[in-house]
Amino acid sequence: MVTRRLHSRGCILCHQGAKLVLFVTGRCSRTCWYCPLSRERKGLDIVYANDRQVHAPEDIIEEAKAMDALGTGITGGEPLLMPERVIEYCTLLKERFGKEHHIHLYTGLAPDEATLMRLRGLVDEIRFHPPQELWHRICETGYARAATAAREMGFETGIEVPALPGLEGLASILPLIDFLNINELEWGEHCAAAMRERGLEPEDGVHNAVRGSRQWAEGLCSHDRVHWCSSVFKDSVQLRERLKRIARTTARPFDEVTDDGTVVYGVLEPEGGIDSFMHILEEHICQEYDGHIEMAWWILIDRSDELPGKKYIVERYPNRGMIMEVTPL
Ligand code: SF4
Repeated sequence: MVTRRLHSRGCILCHQGAKLVLFVTGRCSRTCWYCPLSRERKGLDIVYANDRQVHAPEDIIEEAKAMDALGTGITGGEPLLMPERVIEYCTLLKERFGKEHHIHLYTGLAPDEATLMRLRGLVDEIRFHPPQELWHRICETGYARAATAAREMGFETGIEVPALPGLEGLASILPLIDFLNINELEWGEHCAAAMRERGLEPEDGVHNAVRGSRQWAEGLCSHDRVHWCSSVFKDSVQLRERLKRIARTTARPFDEVTDDGTVVYGVLEPEGGIDSFMHILEEHICQEYDGHIEMAWWILIDRSDELPGKKYIVERYPNRGMIMEVTPL
């Protein structure tokens, strides 16, 4: 019996929220009109592990441990503009977490065999992102040559592109690759003007998807090597699962972990300074942090009258991640 393989290993781990997203540089030699990078990252030579800026390689390991990562997706910008950095980080991750720590690499370039050889044993899966204007003759390009060479060297090999007009041109390369991932086109602040020029608009006020982008993928989606990745899936499943993993290893006893993987706690900025509130620290499980006291939100509400000072409830991504909401009491 032939088993139909729906996703690459990288995608399976991504579904579980188990992949660290390692952004190795914001620099890129291409100028795709739909580039999703934010102004804070685009063109800048900065490194992020998930949403945390990396100042030293050990920061990457800490973030991977915090989420109990089973693998890493290397992205950018263009990661292969910084091949030494990619090799250094992949070596570090494989050394610390073992060779089964699955690493996939995105690249908008078509690397030569010498570059691929250097990545062998460090990167498990390569996802090429060829420019839209080459899709109609993809098999005549360096991307087809690079994909063939990568596959022969034992990399799991795929193409990953956003849903855009002309996708059907990629049908010819399917026999040469293991998978084709098509991402629903997403609206980005940086490319909003270019999208409007092309008559595109966001699906609604809540989601990032661009209205109607699925239609361009429809001709290909029935192929068993093609995988459609919706914007809602990325936001609601992938991100939520990743946050839950981080919360599992980093939430404090008094943090409430929500179904979305965020944490909720209460904050007291005590009148008269922390010292006069030492009894609170002794009576309850709570934490002094940066001149204030953090505790279970329900204790802060229950004992509100006895605790003079500024009080509020915080909901944020775990491990001191992005703040979602602050509710004053
Ligand atoms: S290759 Fe990627 S990072 Fe570079 S411009 Fe295109 S979308 Fe942006």
